[in-house]
Amino acid sequence: MQNSLSIDKSWSLFLDRDGVINVRKLDAYVLKPADFIFCEEAENSISRLSQLFGPVVVVTNQQGIGKGLMSEDDLQAIHTKMVSGIEAAGGRIDKIYYCPELKEAHSFFRKPAPGMALKAKKDFPVIQFKKSVMVGDTISDMRFGKQLKMVTVFIGDEKELISKNHKLIDYAFSGLKEFADFLIRP
Ligand SMILES: [Mg+2]
Repeated sequence: MQNSLSIDKSWSLFLDRDGVINVRKLDAYVLKPADFIFCEEAENSISRLSQLFGPVVVVTNQQGIGKGLMSEDDLQAIHTKMVSGIEAAGGRIDKIYYCPELKEAHSFFRKPAPGMALKAKKDFPVIQFKKSVMVGDTISDMRFGKQLKMVTVFIGDEKELISKNHKLIDYAFSGLKEFADFLIRP
């Protein structure tokens, strides 16, 4: 793993949602706003990170829609809760990209395929992938970032998984707070 990373406004931040911003539900989807529970210090950490980075976007696979478990309106309501919590802490999310399709559909827009990142670059031409950080809690997120030559940050404590995938993971932290503390000395 690398030791230093100096971030300024020319850098972009890509955040996975479940397991990074909100608590991941084991074997269940977040289907309504009440299911959406922020991870510890997530709002405050995103606020700190959004002062440091240029564009801040969320990239999230939401096949619960493809499975018919929730509607796009349900997802919208969940994201309204997420964004208002982050804004109340002084942070910002510039745009949310989600892929509603089933895994089996092999969508170009479902991580680890790069579609959502390419969409983001179209919306925010200042985004440079080599000056972007992808933060996620799965190896799929790390693949998504690496194939675009992003810096990858794994959120989680699974030491064995991290060492097995060290080529895909540049940094690992237990949460967004620890990542923010690493970039911005507290
Ligand atoms: Mg996740």
